[in-house]
Amino acid sequence: MNSDEFRKYGHEVVEWIARYYDNIEQYPVKSRSLPGSVKAQLPGGPPSESQPFDTFLKDFDEIILPGITHWQSPNFFAYFPANSSPPSVLAEMLTAALGTQCMIWETSPAAAELEERMMEWLRDMTGLPECFEGVIQDTASTATLVALLTAREKASSFRSNRTGLFSTATMRVYCSSQSHSSVEKGAGIAGIGRENVVRIPVREDFSLDPAELRKAIETDLAAGHIPCCVVATIGTTGTTAIDPLRMIGEICSEKGVWLHVDAALGGTALLLPEMRWMADGIEYADSLVFNPHKWMFTNFDCSAYFVRDAASLIRTFDILPEYLRTRTRGQVNDYRDWGVQLGRRFRALKLWAVIRTFGVDQLRAMIREHLRLAKMLAGMIGADREYRIMAPVHLNTVCFRWQPPDVTEDEADRLNEKLNHSLNDTGKIYLSHTRVEGRYILRMVTAQTTVEERHVAEAWRLIRETASAISSKGRAVDID
Ligand SMILES: *Cc1c(COP(=O)(O)O)cnc(C)c1O
Repeated sequence: MNSDEFRKYGHEVVEWIARYYDNIEQYPVKSRSLPGSVKAQLPGGPPSESQPFDTFLKDFDEIILPGITHWQSPNFFAYFPANSSPPSVLAEMLTAALGTQCMIWETSPAAAELEERMMEWLRDMTGLPECFEGVIQDTASTATLVALLTAREKASSFRSNRTGLFSTATMRVYCSSQSHSSVEKGAGIAGIGRENVVRIPVREDFSLDPAELRKAIETDLAAGHIPCCVVATIGTTGTTAIDPLRMIGEICSEKGVWLHVDAALGGTALLLPEMRWMADGIEYADSLVFNPHKWMFTNFDCSAYFVRDAASLIRTFDILPEYLRTRTRGQVNDYRDWGVQLGRRFRALKLWAVIRTFGVDQLRAMIREHLRLAKMLAGMIGADREYRIMAPVHLNTVCFRWQPPDVTEDEADRLNEKLNHSLNDTGKIYLSHTRVEGRYILRMVTAQTTVEERHVAEAWRLIRETASAISSKGRAVDID
């Protein structure tokens, strides 16, 4: 592709993206592809001769797009937000054009210094302690792994990287029964062992019970284990529960255990001063992660990882082959020493574009609106006697359940599952589910970049309409 062709197709692609965003509500939100149907349309091998780019764009429209679930649709209410936005898309194009490897300062000084500055901006925007230093990781899963590895190194007096874990007593990691699966995965990868993740019971609001945490740590200490890390969550994935950071932090500080805060989803709400109660006790935290690639309008991937003691982090990860010895070492941040990867993408650029183009005030206004929409939806659902709100609504997610009168809990499970599939099959909206105390519940997340009140109100109307169609059919035939 020469530069004239690049220019021609570049304009076409940008035009495609603009049209896509304009018309996004016309696509079925959840892809209707059947298993194997996309692959069956793709040739078994690559072409040996050059093909015109037009054919790529045509196949993108005809083969790929039907197999896409539209996460940027304002009618996407499933899982969690994975927001993108126009400034993020444009900056990502520039990142791809530069193709920079951001492993050390020397391999692109601007990338390293912009990353350092962006992490300071994010830290200050969210009111995190000034002593925190940040680095962009690909995902929260990686950031949590990095926290576990650093905690493991500290707990073994920096021996485990050198000698392996064989010479130490069993290490233990604590999190609530509602914590994200990345904690268990990370503990496995870190050699701590998945079975050494202690799932602490939760209180009525699904937040970690600190009395149970204290008991678990004391039992482990008495058994000769090494308590290594506690992972507290601000906004669990299932029900957005908020763990009591201060009480957990006091225990960690007393016992000398690393405290990592998983705020992957909820962290963005710390932009709002009125939501900072969630981080009360943050002065006890050793590390925190939150994902601008979830709720802060920055396309995947971009996960902000903050640490109190960057020296321990670097001591865990640095390794210095001859070809990476530079004259600037020690004066600048070489981010390959701040995580698992050597090669790193230039992710700070899109963050810079997003923060500047929206401005902090507008970012705050959008997050605030998402919180308002969740409360509004919870109000509408709560006012209907056939529905129940199943968890406190602190953030952008409403967990609810359809519970028609005279229906057993088991029948209601089946009805809610049926309602979920019927709604998603319409293509008009997309919801997901979880289980709370064994019960099937629906989750609706009101945090897409372009979601408005009308989308939420229409979704609720559709939910009720679909549910009554199911129940009248159920009466006519048989509920199943
Ligand atoms: C989404 C989520 C994660 C995982 O985030 P990735 O960036 O996809 O790894 C971890 N913890 C919580 C609480 C989450 O909501």
